[in-house]
Amino acid sequence: MISFLDLKKINAAIRNELIESCTRVIDSGWYIGGTELADFERQFAQYTGSRHCIGVANGLDALNLTLRAWKELGRLKEGDEVIVPANTYIASILAITENRLIPVLVEPDPATYNLDPQRVEAAITPRTRVIMAVHLYGQLCEMPALMAVAGRNNLLVLEDSAQAHGASFDGRRAGSWGDASGFSFYPGKNLGALGDAGAVTTNDDELADTIKALRNYGSHEKYKNLYQGVNSRLDELQAAMLSVKLKYLDEQTKQRRNVAQMYLDGITNPSIKLPLQAGTCALTLESHVWHVFVIRCERRNELQQYLAGHAIQTIIHYPVPAHQQQAYKDWEPKNYPLTEAIHQQVLSLPMSPVMTLQEIETVIAAINNFACEE
Ligand SMILES: *Cc1c(COP(=O)(O)O)cnc(C)c1O
Repeated sequence: MISFLDLKKINAAIRNELIESCTRVIDSGWYIGGTELADFERQFAQYTGSRHCIGVANGLDALNLTLRAWKELGRLKEGDEVIVPANTYIASILAITENRLIPVLVEPDPATYNLDPQRVEAAITPRTRVIMAVHLYGQLCEMPALMAVAGRNNLLVLEDSAQAHGASFDGRRAGSWGDASGFSFYPGKNLGALGDAGAVTTNDDELADTIKALRNYGSHEKYKNLYQGVNSRLDELQAAMLSVKLKYLDEQTKQRRNVAQMYLDGITNPSIKLPLQAGTCALTLESHVWHVFVIRCERRNELQQYLAGHAIQTIIHYPVPAHQQQAYKDWEPKNYPLTEAIHQQVLSLPMSPVMTLQEIETVIAAINNFACEE
């Protein structure tokens, strides 16, 4: 079986280092809010090129608490609009609705599946306050163009970088473009903990301070509560695991790029649409870290079954768009044909830094033989 993502194999390669760090934390007797977290926050801020990194419990909270902090700081209020791609993962949108802000869904650029700056500009109303730039599948959005739209319209930009650790354009990484950025370190993400974890990066001192309070019951100082905060902390054990794994991230990204390049070169089946790396602006190889390798096929379900029959595991990112979810049944019905087509046709191939040459070749051959077998 070629697995979609063999986490066991990825972590086994650095098992001894992980165990050493684990032991250090266990023996320290200090498990929340200590030096492991401070070390990781410093390293990850530096990695992304941001002044601050604030560790939180997960990626959803990173987005959620950033929007919440902007509300506490008076930069946002209930009912303000947030522009977000209609085809994103549900968590991007949950963070918006949790804060009683209004998600304004826009169709993506069909070439990159990311926000299309022209469609974003067309969706702006007098109530728009935020653009949520989701770097979907690991590819950076066209940030220069999006930042220009935000600048012209005086909007905040929140990057959803949950899938894009290390993706960059012009030497600037995901997490350093917007006013703030949310990261997830869910185990399956490119930088993954051994449990739940997340972080916000930002250059804004005031925002960083507010999020630090919000993640800790709304308190900067013990027993003094400025806000009705939450408990959303990144614990010492996960921070220690992440510090180990961060060292290997760039090497693993290189390996992901090699897999992607082999797929791009090798898959020639005309019924398969391969991912494009560039949109209307000249994005480069550096802009994509291949969290997932997403192909499109009109007979997607058939293709997925066929690949399963050849012992190749695939996943659909994502089968149902937010506007068709039961959770949002109260939204005014609206069609997003591009988004709906994407959800019906996409399929993510096995992608990881530990795939062998033979596994990659097996996937390519199977896909190229699809349809010939009927
Ligand atoms: C994973 C993910 C999140 C949420 O992260 P969690 O750590 O699972 O809460 C948010 N946005 C996107 C695009 C994601 O892929």
